[in-house]
This record gives sequence, structure tokens and C-alpha cells, in this order.
Amino acid sequence: MAEARSRQVIIAGAGIAGLTAALAFAVRGYPVRVFERAPRLDEVGAGLQLSPNATRILDRLGVLPGLRHTAVRPDAVVLRDASSLAELGRVPLGAAAEWRWKAPYLTSHRADLQAALLAHVAREPGIQLATGAAVKDVTPHPLGVTVSVESAGRISQTSGTMLVAADGVWSDLRRLVGGDPKSRFSGQVAWRRTVRAESVAGQSLARMGVGGAVTAFLAPGFHLVTYPVRAGSALNLVAFTQGKPLGETWAATMDNAVLKHAMRRTAPALLQLAGDVGEWTVWPLHTVRADRPWTAPSGIALIGDAAHAMTPYAAQGAAMAIEDGETLAGHVLARPDSLVAALGAWEKERRQRIEKVARRGRMNRFTWHAAGPVAAVRNLVLRSRKPEKLATDLDWLYGWTPPALKL
Ligand SMILES: Cc1cc2nc3c(=O)[nH]c(=O)nc-3n(C[C@H](O)[C@H](O)[C@H](O)COP(=O)(O)OP(=O)(O)OC[C@H]3O[C@@H](n4cnc5c(N)ncnc54)[C@H](O)[C@@H]3O)c2cc1C
Repeated sequence: MAEARSRQVIIAGAGIAGLTAALAFAVRGYPVRVFERAPRLDEVGAGLQLSPNATRILDRLGVLPGLRHTAVRPDAVVLRDASSLAELGRVPLGAAAEWRWKAPYLTSHRADLQAALLAHVAREPGIQLATGAAVKDVTPHPLGVTVSVESAGRISQTSGTMLVAADGVWSDLRRLVGGDPKSRFSGQVAWRRTVRAESVAGQSLARMGVGGAVTAFLAPGFHLVTYPVRAGSALNLVAFTQGKPLGETWAATMDNAVLKHAMRRTAPALLQLAGDVGEWTVWPLHTVRADRPWTAPSGIALIGDAAHAMTPYAAQGAAMAIEDGETLAGHVLARPDSLVAALGAWEKERRQRIEKVARRGRMNRFTWHAAGPVAAVRNLVLRSRKPEKLATDLDWLYGWTPPALKL
């Protein structure tokens, strides 16, 4: 008698995409095994923005209550001129976002989001998670896939219906679907720093009017975003400049002369923040080519940054990873007769959305980093737009709801 195809879903990577996918498959009744290469899920990283398109999914997966005590619900996104600190435009968030997009807009430390996802994963009997276990290879066969996993120097095999490769921007598993083996350096780097709200830097930012908002300070060739995290006790700062390749890292150090130079035309109070030597860590912004496949008919799907790492100018990296995990599980459940059809339909649907989001990011970068007459027109346009109008322009992004969830 022919053996039945296993229903087990194997996931490589316990980042934001992998953990969301694990929960999304588990609530649909699939047994899940997650393998994470890192021995421990450390507190590397800093802030992430979670727009309503993402929190809607986290809520339906039951993760949101666990995030509420650490995440912050900012009251607006505010764009400011970095030299005068004057407000240029404002998108109302807080209660207005919940009313408009039917889910909260939150900011969170990456570690807090990962911890909330992990806590939920731990309560889900259908999910097994192993750390210190790197997925190395996959062998497709008529009944699914067999995945090779390296742990403590030993290789073992696990079989399942499919492999979800959620191994991030430095993905090695991308090669399994014929994708670009390596991500590409965009020429830009992100400088990251977290300050306590009551510190000198925190109080200086408060005097600049950042309050409980997501604030972006715009200057030619540069912008700096700041927002509260950790229940408001800290402020996350991320600044974007030109830079050099730094390899595969989330926390390199670099001479902050580069940052000071990029901020030379910003207000003295802002420039002061660049001067605190040793406080900033840097990560290189990498992207992957948009024309390479994300799925293989043999039963492999790339999700999150592994598939479509983009520059973070639309602040949608984590949100797209969350959308990917949820929608992939929905498509696989919807086509129990054909995994090939399910993967094809998922990839087609996701490509349209991801491309639109990436376009928005490119537009943000162009307008936010503009100089001279382009910047002057930008400022005029932003100042003339009512906050509600700026919110309406984001309905397609934040108001997005995954196709009917089958729980
Ligand atoms: C340590 C770290 C810090 C970060 N800090 C920030 C930040 O401060 N701000 C920001 O905007 N974004 C940050 N990011 C990126 C952000 O999390 C992602 O852009 C986004 O959430 C998409 O998530 P992802 O799950 O696709 O990738 P990631 O969150 O990068 O997760 C990928 C996971 O896969 C694991 N992995 C890799 N290869 C294998 C393998 N072969 N087998 C098993 N597991 C594997 C990695 O260890 C990692 O845990 C960080 C990512 C990491 C890993």
C-alpha cells in the first residue's frame, strides 16, 4: 500500500517569518518542526514597526496580548525637516489607526516580538522547536521532502510535506529554489541606537517634540527615525547613510565620522546625537533580486527576507514576513489536493503585494532624501495635505487583510 504524504511542515529559521509561519500552520492543524541555527535567540536587534496589516494577523494568531505590555502604540507618524525640526506632515495613529485600519499600529523591540511569538509557540503542542540546528539541504521525493539538519556537528534527517525557508536576508537556502545565492549590498547602512527615555539624549529628543510618535527627520541623502519601545521606557533611533559593505552582520561598529558627516546639515540638537561615540551599531542594508523564484514545485517556499529582503524605507520588513507566514499556510490549506498549485498561487499573490510595498519604499527614499527644489516641493506638498489625506494614501497598505482565515 502506498504511504500517505506526511503533513508535517518543516521550517528553517525562528525569526519573525518562521515563527509566524509555525503558528499559522499549527492553528490549521499541521504538525510543525522549526529548526533555528542560532544556539540561543539573543537580544540582538532593536526596534521594529508593526503596522495594522501585521498586528491584525498577530491578533488572530493570539500573539497580540503577549506583546501589549512591551509594545508601544504611537500616536502618529510625524515627518520633520532635520535642519529646522519643523513639522512637515503627520499621519494620525493611536485610536485613529485602530478605527481606520481595524488593528493597532505598534512599535516593538525585535526581541520583545520574538519573545511573544516564542511564548505562543511554546504553548502550541503541534510545534517542535530546536535551536542550534541549521537546515543544510533538502531532498525532494514523491511523498514530500527530506531535510538535512546539522546540530552539534551531527547531520540528521527529517521528513515532511514541505520546507519553509525563513532563513533571513543572509539565506543560504535561497539556492534550493534557484534564487540569487547571495543578497546584494544596497550601498546604504542603518545606524542603530537605543536610549533610555530619561537619559540626556532621550530628554533632548523629547524637547524636539518626538513625544509618543514615530518621527522621521529628513535631510538631503539622510534620514533618522525615532520611536518609543519597551513600554515607552526607551527610544529606538535608526539613521540611514551611505556606507560600505560590512558582511553578514546586524551589529557592526563603524567610525561615526560617517554619521556626523551625513548629519552635518541637521539641527545642532540632532547632530549632538551623532557624537556619542560607541553608542551606535551599524548593519548593511541588503536586498535580493526581485526576478528570482520563491517556490519550487518539489515543496519549498522562501518567505520573509529570504525571499524578498528590501530596504526598510517603508518600515515593512517584519510586516511582510508576518503576512508571508500567514498567507502561505492559508494557501496550503486551501489546496490539499495540490501543493504545487498552492505554492504557485501563493507566490503569484504575494509578488504583487511585495512589489507594491518595495515601490513605496523606493519612493519614500527618493522623497525623504531629496535636496534643493525637489525637497522644497516635497515640503510644500506635505504641508498642504491634511493628516486624514496622508492616512487615506496608506489604506491599501495598512488596511490589507489576509484572504479569509480558515482556523
Ligand atoms: C539578530 C537579528 C537582528 C535584527 N535586528 C533588526 C533591527 O534592529 N531592525 C530591523 O528592522 N530589522 C532587524 N532584523 C531583521 C528583521 O527581523 C527582518 O528584516 C524581518 O523581521 C524579516 O524577518 P525574517 O524572519 O525573514 O528574517 P530574520 O528575522 O532575519 O530571521 C531569520 C532567522 O533564520 C535563522 N537561520 C538562518 N539560516 C538558517 C538555517 N540554515 N537553518 C535554520 N535557521 C537559520 C537566523 O538565525 C534567524 O534567526 C534583525 C534580524 C536578526 C536575525
